[in-house]
Amino acid sequence: MPKYLPEPFRIKVVEPIQLINQAEREKALKAAGYNVFGLRAQDVYIDLMTDSGTGAMSQAQWSAMMSGDESYAGARSFYRLKEVMEDIFGFKHFVPTHQGRAAENILAAVLLKAGQFVPSNMHFDTTEGNILARGGVPTNLVKQVAYEPQTVVDFKGDMDTDALKAWIEEKGPANIPFGMMTITNNAGGGQPVSLANLRAVSEIYRSYNIPFFIDACRYAENAYFIKLREPGYADKTPLEIAREIFALADGATMSAKKDGMVNIGGFLATNDDKLFERVRAELILREGFPTYGGLAGRDLDALAVGLRDGLQEDYLAYRLAQTAYAADRIRQAGMPLIEPTGGHAIYLDAAGLLPHLSREQLPGQALSVALYQYGGIRAVEMGTIAFGQLVDGQWKFPPLELVRLAIPRRTYTQSHFDYVAEVIGEIKADAGKIRGMKMTYAPELLRHFTAQFEYV
Ligand SMILES: *Cc1c(COP(=O)(O)O)cnc(C)c1O
Repeated sequence: MPKYLPEPFRIKVVEPIQLINQAEREKALKAAGYNVFGLRAQDVYIDLMTDSGTGAMSQAQWSAMMSGDESYAGARSFYRLKEVMEDIFGFKHFVPTHQGRAAENILAAVLLKAGQFVPSNMHFDTTEGNILARGGVPTNLVKQVAYEPQTVVDFKGDMDTDALKAWIEEKGPANIPFGMMTITNNAGGGQPVSLANLRAVSEIYRSYNIPFFIDACRYAENAYFIKLREPGYADKTPLEIAREIFALADGATMSAKKDGMVNIGGFLATNDDKLFERVRAELILREGFPTYGGLAGRDLDALAVGLRDGLQEDYLAYRLAQTAYAADRIRQAGMPLIEPTGGHAIYLDAAGLLPHLSREQLPGQALSVALYQYGGIRAVEMGTIAFGQLVDGQWKFPPLELVRLAIPRRTYTQSHFDYVAEVIGEIKADAGKIRGMKMTYAPELLRHFTAQFEYV
């Protein structure tokens, strides 16, 4: 079993959590229409719904917030962030945004025309949504192995570069306003991308004059995977690896709620002067003046410190070891997982655990409900409800029926994950008794947030 690396911090501020009793949990579930998005956070004991903006900030970040400069234009906070941005990412220009999706929206607004194509290893759903919203066509060209849940390879987020070249030739480079890579590949289980692959993708994009943007949400975790797994990088620091990554690109979008170690924020960066002018105009229209971009000055200061926190080697070693430890305990409890474990989340194979349920009986939803029922644990279904299509009352099922345990940064300890594994062990022992679910209400769009369910 991977060693649990002790947390490289001690606890100075605590937030109480409580496990309400089983009868109260049943009541809360019923009131939420058996959708864990409908639960009140105070009724959740261990909240593994997302790692986005749910982590703990450091004392350095909290102290930096007190120095936030709330000037509308030219705030000191912006210049402190700018210095860090230049040091890590090295792009010529950047604008802060309130979240990652705001950066994606601006990028799509200024670069994309209806009918054009945008390739990536795998687009995250907000990126995909922003491309579709402008009439574009998002295309995923990750290597085929990413779709094999049990195959263990070091860099399961890598792009299929042969497929990329053939696809660009087919669509025509003039119809591709920009190309992307998501590091780590969130939609594919938080799997890392190798530097060798990033280099090859960059060369292909450049050879066709296609601007290359990195979706950098978990770039620090990706850099540490490179250090651990890619030949030649063992002696480099995560910062050096990050610089090498971003030198290959023309720009980046980022949700700072991930490896920026903050509760809110993001950015869009570019080396292109002309593009930056248009980005700035769009930002002023939608987010705010370019030196604050929809954030408070204190948020910019928290991010300036958080970006450095997120690249600390002891932090990253602990972060990846914690995820690996939790996965191992859960695997030992008899739960089938998607392999290998990525950086920020563990994916449970609900269909594998509950073979007595048909796909119509929504095993992912049933497991997400059981996790709360048995132990007050909140985790999100990533199966039929999140990705399936409902055509004339008939489900078109996605390939996998998963439940995601996402791990907030610097928030839970070893004993919390031991507890999660114990609860999963109890569910495993009772697996034959877990009841299937049916959907009783669904909105038109983004079904999983507000759908309602009942037991079949
Ligand atoms: C979270 C995320 C986004 C979107 O960021 P928000 O801050 O939630 O808008 C985009 N891409 C990836 C890979 C993400 O994980």
